[in-house]
Amino acid sequence: MNALNKSKCLLLDEIHKLRAELAAVKLTTENRTSELYKRVDLFSLATRGANDGLWDWNLETDEVYYSPRWKSMLGYGENELDNNLETWASLVYPDDKSMALEKAQDYIASRSDSYEVEMRMHHKDSHKVVVLSRGFLVTRESDNKPIRLVGTHVDITERKKAEAFDNNHAEILEMIALGRPASDIYDAIALMYEGRHSGLRCSMLELHGNKLMHGGAPSLPKEYCNALHGMENGPGVGSCGTATYTGKRVLVEDIETDCKWEKIKHIALPYGLRCCWSEPIKNSHGEVLGAFGMYYNHPALPNEEESNDLKSAARLAGIVMERDQAQKRIRALAYTDELTGLASRAHFYQHLEKLIKTSDRHNHRFGLLYIDLDDFKDVNDSLGHDAGDLLLKIIAKRLESTCRAIDYVARLGGDEFCIIAEEIDADYHAANVAQRCFDAISQPVELASRKLTPTCSIGIARYPDDGEDISTLLKAADISLYAAKENGKNQYAFYKLEFTRKAEYRFQIEQCLREAIEKHQLSLVYQPQIKLKTGKIIGVEALLRWHHPLLGQVPPADFIATAEKIGMIKSLTEWVLRTACRQAVAWKNEGYPGLRMAINISPSHFLDYAIVPLINRIIDETGMAPAELELEITEIVVQKTYPQHHLVFQDLKDRGIQLTIDDFGTGFSAFASLKNLNVDFLKIDKHFVDDMLVNNKILILISSMIEMGHKLGYGIIAKGVETLEQLNILTNLGCETAQGYLFSEPVNANEITKLLSR
Ligand code: C2E
Ligand code: CA
Repeated sequence: MNALNKSKCLLLDEIHKLRAELAAVKLTTENRTSELYKRVDLFSLATRGANDGLWDWNLETDEVYYSPRWKSMLGYGENELDNNLETWASLVYPDDKSMALEKAQDYIASRSDSYEVEMRMHHKDSHKVVVLSRGFLVTRESDNKPIRLVGTHVDITERKKAEAFDNNHAEILEMIALGRPASDIYDAIALMYEGRHSGLRCSMLELHGNKLMHGGAPSLPKEYCNALHGMENGPGVGSCGTATYTGKRVLVEDIETDCKWEKIKHIALPYGLRCCWSEPIKNSHGEVLGAFGMYYNHPALPNEEESNDLKSAARLAGIVMERDQAQKRIRALAYTDELTGLASRAHFYQHLEKLIKTSDRHNHRFGLLYIDLDDFKDVNDSLGHDAGDLLLKIIAKRLESTCRAIDYVARLGGDEFCIIAEEIDADYHAANVAQRCFDAISQPVELASRKLTPTCSIGIARYPDDGEDISTLLKAADISLYAAKENGKNQYAFYKLEFTRKAEYRFQIEQCLREAIEKHQLSLVYQPQIKLKTGKIIGVEALLRWHHPLLGQVPPADFIATAEKIGMIKSLTEWVLRTACRQAVAWKNEGYPGLRMAINISPSHFLDYAIVPLINRIIDETGMAPAELELEITEIVVQKTYPQHHLVFQDLKDRGIQLTIDDFGTGFSAFASLKNLNVDFLKIDKHFVDDMLVNNKILILISSMIEMGHKLGYGIIAKGVETLEQLNILTNLGCETAQGYLFSEPVNANEITKLLSR
């Protein structure tokens, strides 16, 4: 039998004895009865556990008996406290006193079945003791009047601490799960562990590179935290500096004397900090992310509980730090353009939104520059994507170094960049920035052993003049950019209302063009091509016309590019090919000699191999003679052509189709690009024809083109011939075919029939 059970048995014996005594003597006086009952109850309470304190409150006299354990629970000796209610009242926390008394009164008045209350009490050395107080009522036998409340006190401080710790722990896990800011969670962790050890102060430091950065330390002085913030870690930089450096726990019993604090103790001692234990905070891969520090204002080493807490605190902080770092990395990825390192589109939107808000508040103006590289697609297509990426990086660097620190640069995607120029005189400043961008961008670059001079177009919108919200402002910048491109690229354009009207027109074209074929709004006109030696029509060029009931006659220059953009060019070309070929066959059937039918093919369509089966199908379907079909492609096609495109040229030539390079001489390295390609005619651009009479150099150029073309085996067609003078010169230079208003404007098929019959 153990000691406790033994003492319980003894106590039970005592109770039996007393009860027997009671029955035997049949006491007469109430006092005597009460005294005996008191003893019985006290002993029966005592059986509940030797660790409980006992109390006995005489409701009539307010005398209270406190057992020695009751007193020692609060740090007092047997004779140190008076036996009255005042003693209890002075030791209980004021906030809990009335609640405890109220419960007692309710119980005495039989308003509740039992008396049980938790209350906080002051220990002699001033720390808090949480007490669970339970009691029961003793009544007088004669009139059933309550005379005493008798009960126990149990010290539940540790249990309460454990409960609070569990709750805090759960709250912290919830904060982590909800993605609350790391600094808030650090503070909560510190407070949670501080709650477990009186006088403890905790800190969390993050390690950035080799720098210690403040994470959280809600109970340490701000000045102390600031002094540590940014310090380099190392073997002699306090407990946390050393722990992050070595990756091992560092326990410093006395900051004043420990050599690890030698260099920085002057920062800690003035705040009373005397010992510091530090546990490195590590991520799941064991890499050091920071340190958890525990401080006391007296020299000490951790006891077992503190030591365990230090470890678990560092582990918990590690979860927070690792998550925080991952989130920061994700955010950085989202807000930085990976290729160029500039701000990303997402960051740009966020920045612009903030800027609009502050500008609105302070009446500020700013300019938004939308920058788009000219012909970047060609670089990608001809030199490959790696070269394209490299160019983008170079451009990003140039833009960044061109802008002042207050100007903001972002890459919005592809070859689009954006600069926000903040200035009172936004117009002047924006134009200035635009000019500097041109200067910077147009420095020659060597890419894939080719020298290139990049250019860009810039659209400028001004806040608030051209838009007061993000979408209006961006739309204005986009519209101005389009205008700059349309005006010939390599220039900037400020936003104008007229641009919007044009943009709306483009939009309408886009909307209406989709149904142009089904609604029979398209037609073809034909422009004769004349053999200069005979003056006879040897062919026609088919030119597309679109008449829309509301938009009227829409010129091809206005809708061909749109058709390319919205992916309609293939169906449009198919319609033109079919209509023109049918017409050619019809003329032949009417008895006119075989005319060459020239049809314009857009570069993007021509470079798609699908054009070959399409043309074959149309030839088979219409009965067109392949040798009388001539396809006009612009010089761009020739410049862009890769080996895989040679098959298009080859297969069309094999079928006997004629190929013409349109606008010849307008691109660069015209002849050089022809060396690998098999074509039949060069069509000299109208600009040469226009200028040859006024500019002798142009005349020489035309003359050389004709001569060189002939020598290389190409037929020459001159277009845009408007005067006899031009005709004579071209004839003298040996040009064999011409087309232009001098002979006829593009006209409908009936008009051509009339011309043919003449
Ligand atoms: P283009 O291939 O250079 O066609 C010649 C353009 O010059 C035609 O304009 C024609 O009307 C005009 N023209 C002909 N002779 C003269 C002249 O003596 N003086 C002047 N000032 N102009 C003359 P149009 O019909 O407006 O066509 C413009 C452009 O639209 C064409 O230029 C061509 O690139 C494109 N286009 C027209 N039809 C089609 C088509 O069916 N498919 C494709 N892909 N493009 C087409
Ligand atoms: Ca043409």
